[in-house]
Amino acid sequence: ITDTASSILSNVVILISTLVAMLWLSWQLTVLSLFLSPVFVWITRKVGKTRQQIAARTQQSMAEISAITEETLSVSGILLSKAFGRQRHEIERFRSESGRLAELEIRQQMIGRSFFAVVQIFFSITPALVYLVAGVVIAHQPVGELTIQAGTIVAFTTLQSRLFFPIGQMLQVSVEVQASMALFDRIFEYLDMPHEIVDSPTAHRMPADTVRGGVRFDDVWFRYDAPPPSAPTSPVDGAQGAPPPIAREWTLQAVDLDIRPGQLAALVGPSGAGKTTMTYLVPRMYDVDRGAVRIDDVDVREIRLASLGDIIGMVTQETYLFHTSIRQNLLYGKPDATQGQLEAAARAAFIHDRIAEMPEGYDTVVGERGYRMSGGEKQRLAIARVVLKDPRILILDEATSSLDTTSERLVQEALRPLMRGRTTLAIAHRLSTILAADVIFVVDQGRIVERGTHAELLREGGLYARLYQQQFQGGAVEAECEDGVVLTTGEVVPAPGSQSA
Ligand code: ATP
Repeated sequence: ITDTASSILSNVVILISTLVAMLWLSWQLTVLSLFLSPVFVWITRKVGKTRQQIAARTQQSMAEISAITEETLSVSGILLSKAFGRQRHEIERFRSESGRLAELEIRQQMIGRSFFAVVQIFFSITPALVYLVAGVVIAHQPVGELTIQAGTIVAFTTLQSRLFFPIGQMLQVSVEVQASMALFDRIFEYLDMPHEIVDSPTAHRMPADTVRGGVRFDDVWFRYDAPPPSAPTSPVDGAQGAPPPIAREWTLQAVDLDIRPGQLAALVGPSGAGKTTMTYLVPRMYDVDRGAVRIDDVDVREIRLASLGDIIGMVTQETYLFHTSIRQNLLYGKPDATQGQLEAAARAAFIHDRIAEMPEGYDTVVGERGYRMSGGEKQRLAIARVVLKDPRILILDEATSSLDTTSERLVQEALRPLMRGRTTLAIAHRLSTILAADVIFVVDQGRIVERGTHAELLREGGLYARLYQQQFQGGAVEAECEDGVVLTTGEVVPAPGSQSA
């Protein structure tokens, strides 16, 4: 706006005033000077359109190159390419995209240059043309009846050279603006995307200290959006008609479940059954298509998103840590926590001693995504972060990645106090979590097919019993229950005097 708008304004003023003066001097010479201008305007539009298309492709290519750089130069990307010996391939991928971008940039700069060169040449030779035509006219006029004076011609050509500069600039500006439009299209494509999950006008705050923490799914149906059609990358690719809508399968169907405040509920089921999806619906990562998810009998869509964030804490399978100090990563759970609270949370997650051993203690920088930490340490840091947050409802997606026995035991010990006293919805992979659960929901193909305690489900002899057999009885899995009973290879050993199997 600062450059283009001021340039347009000053050029329009010069253009109009000069044109008026020229017409006043000689309308015939004015017509002679400007007879090709409409052609220039027409060609400018054409050039602008082409530049716009190339600009769109350039943007696409820049996005691509950013994605490649970000992917391959991230810690995980570097590790993966090294592990698979694909560095050469990655370098080639970057080089080829970089070449494409360079070519597009050059084309974008070159397009129209020859056209503007022609325009400049024309503008430079028109004064000569005016002198020629006017000279011929003067030469053939009878003496004493001069209609065009030599002085007029000099004044006219001076004005003319003043006129051509703004015209040339305006043609250039129009091409630039058209190219910028391609950029705006891309920006607004994102800005105009509707927010799917927003606070409803009737949503209210739910103070975290008044929440009891009951979670209920009432006849919940849900399916993910179909992936967006692969849109043409730029107008030059040609607009294809929108593909027919894809009939989508339900990811969750008629799910009913009730978890009372303070209970530990375990979700168990084959891969792809919909367990993670169920946990996403509680903090409104997605909204249900039918039915309702309720916290303390209130539909989550009627609770402010900020409140939901305060009430619910998540420990995900893949621990994400920011590339900053341990302190800052922990404070993410509770920005105003004191050092004392920070250490208490770290102690509860069995990570304090390890942090204290590090030369820089809580100020140790964890590296991108926490790569300087071991898998178990990362998980315990993530647990400490949630302990600090102290949410009423905990969603726990247990990591399937196998840690060594010591780390695994530490993570389990860190989880135990975390789950105590709060409602926990756990995607359970550890036998200890399954055994400790107050209720187990067995999920298969988006439905809850069995529910009950471990002993009840084993007795039923259904899917749970089969999964249990496959996962825990096949291998020499050992797990220690809270009351100290050791289960070996799936054998259920009743504790002396304990009521549970
Ligand atoms: P796992 O134990 O392997 O993690 P899961 O039971 O947690 O599996 P979900 O992750 O809930 O399963 O996935 C359920 C189904 O939904 C799968 O078929 C999956 O492919 C599909 N799905 C998951 N996330 C998306 C998404 N964002 N878009 C489209 N489909 C998805």
